Amino acid sequence: MSKPFASALFFLLLASCARRAPETDGANWLMYGRTTDDHRFSPLNQVTEQTVPKLGLVWSRELNTTRGLEATPLVEDGVIYTTGDWSIAYALDAKTGNILWMYDPKVPRDRAYFICCDVVNRGVALHNGKVYLGTLDARLIALDAKTGAPVWTAVTAENKAYSITGYPRIAKNLVIIGNAGAEYGVRGYISAYDAETGKLAWRAYTVPGDPSKGFESKAMQDAAKTWEGEWWKAGGGGTPWEGVVYDPSLDLLYFGTGNASAWYRALRGKGDKDSLYTASIMAVHASNGELAWYFQTSPGDNWDYDATQPLMQLDVTINGQPRKLIMQANKNGFFYVLDRQTGEFISGTPFVPGVTWASGLEPKTGRPLVTPAGYAGSKPVLVSPGPGGAHNWNPMAYNPSTRLVYLPAKAGSQFVHAPNMSWKYDADRNNLGDLATYEGPLNAKMLAAPPPQGELLAWDPIARRAAWQVTYPVQEGGGVLATAGNLVFQGRADGIFAAYRATDGQQLWEFDAGTGIIAPPVTYLVDGQQYVSVMAGWGGSSALFNAPTEGKVKPGYGRILTFALNGTATLHAPAYGHKEPPTPAMPVTASAKTIHEGGLLFNNQCAPCHGINAVAGPTPDLRYLTKAEHAQFDNIVLGGARAELGMPSFQKIFTPAQVHAIQAYILSRAADSAKPAPK
Ligand code: CA
Repeated sequence: MSKPFASALFFLLLASCARRAPETDGANWLMYGRTTDDHRFSPLNQVTEQTVPKLGLVWSRELNTTRGLEATPLVEDGVIYTTGDWSIAYALDAKTGNILWMYDPKVPRDRAYFICCDVVNRGVALHNGKVYLGTLDARLIALDAKTGAPVWTAVTAENKAYSITGYPRIAKNLVIIGNAGAEYGVRGYISAYDAETGKLAWRAYTVPGDPSKGFESKAMQDAAKTWEGEWWKAGGGGTPWEGVVYDPSLDLLYFGTGNASAWYRALRGKGDKDSLYTASIMAVHASNGELAWYFQTSPGDNWDYDATQPLMQLDVTINGQPRKLIMQANKNGFFYVLDRQTGEFISGTPFVPGVTWASGLEPKTGRPLVTPAGYAGSKPVLVSPGPGGAHNWNPMAYNPSTRLVYLPAKAGSQFVHAPNMSWKYDADRNNLGDLATYEGPLNAKMLAAPPPQGELLAWDPIARRAAWQVTYPVQEGGGVLATAGNLVFQGRADGIFAAYRATDGQQLWEFDAGTGIIAPPVTYLVDGQQYVSVMAGWGGSSALFNAPTEGKVKPGYGRILTFALNGTATLHAPAYGHKEPPTPAMPVTASAKTIHEGGLLFNNQCAPCHGINAVAGPTPDLRYLTKAEHAQFDNIVLGGARAELGMPSFQKIFTPAQVHAIQAYILSRAADSAKPAPK
């Protein structure tokens, strides 16, 4: 055999080995949770508990955004594939951070009104030379991995209220994608497309539609028995808005579903119906989307306890029996362990203190024992966990040596109150915003509630207890990475990116990323060197709502950062935010009554982006509006003059008189904030 031929063959073998063994060698990070079991565990061990003090920045790349960055970067052969705000996809050179290509799907910016929780995206899927991207306006786009050029586009939405923030999942030759929009009255489903052509292979709904049109499946027919009235008119909800996971050995897909629409149980009927399959973990056959099993974590949801948190597979022996498990740290405060072949409930354990909506779970079925506090009477009641949940989309990690799951957990509360029973579904509105009234006294009570607290929790899923936890000074912790270096990496809302010892939670290293981190880090090899990358960009619903109880969060400009041992780069983070109190643009002339009404409207409809009490995080702080901007106020709010910047027209939502009340409220807030602090 000639030498060139032999070395070519050697390289071919190497390349094919690398492709065949993506789950074991750790060089690449080819899918959302790195491996199909979604453990987010890397076998790489250059960066260890001993060497991590030498970890330093190699490069950072500004992404020119102040909105949330949530993506898991995927890495193949030294190229990072990731997403920023507005579903923009990037390919970067992992060694230098140079942008190789960028693809902007040009999502219409007025879509922002139909996005509950920021214009975020959690990343792409890679398969056979293509990059798959879900967009905020619910398109699924296949891009050429080399050039970023679109190969095919599929419209996955059935109406304008659907969106996608989750990542696509590959199952054999199919690309699977979910959707969001239950706050806006859509009917949830996942769709499977041919990865090469973009042709729809099947669609699996999560809630039943209009019975007069016939049910798509027996699963939908069965589910319809758990709904009352004309539920389909409000969509039904149950959107699988995070990701879908896949077990190739069982050929099953797993995903969680979100809240029902209508949102409050009392608005969905008189009785105590469960509204299947909302707030559930579902398993469907990858070949045709038929339901294999379901497990409803929060029947009759009344608290926004979406069951969409990341699902993790684990094969273990329990009581001498080999079990194929699937696990989830649910928004509702319980850590669930189920048999992923059958859906059998194995265990459910509170993983944060102070869970009050349920006193526990039925030992055999796992059905929650809802407390009287769970369904409010006429007076609002404080219920825990809060609307952000005890854990949300931020991914968790598992280390097979410590046998611990590492996750960002948080304690918090919410007021549940009796809904406005005259509510009618309106496709043009954020229907949740119409219901949640953060008005004066209630608002004050909410802010006076026990301060929300966040922690990195090391959880033993089999022994069902915490091994350790590290409390941080903010509520929001980012996604987690575990490595064979006995390390756990995690960023958080105050911008600190830290490494902890996996066995006991001792912090060993930290770096200030200059803005809050919510995304999970990844690690990989390029030319034999181990790198760690993370997206830093404070955003999401907590950031936009900007409740004062959130702690020392750090809004700023978003970036991607990459670290390696002996990295010596310095981060130059541009300054962000106002340094001085606002100067009111004009005197407040409106009556106290008008200002009060403006405040109610603002905190229901505007605060979800511009911050509660008009104190903003990542979006423009309206207390700082100039006189010229105030002169354009009607034009912006009703006329949509800033729709291209993500501020949609509220013409269908507000009357001109209401807009003037909101303007008066903003001016009064500027005046309040401008006053020197009382001595
Ligand atoms: Ca929800």
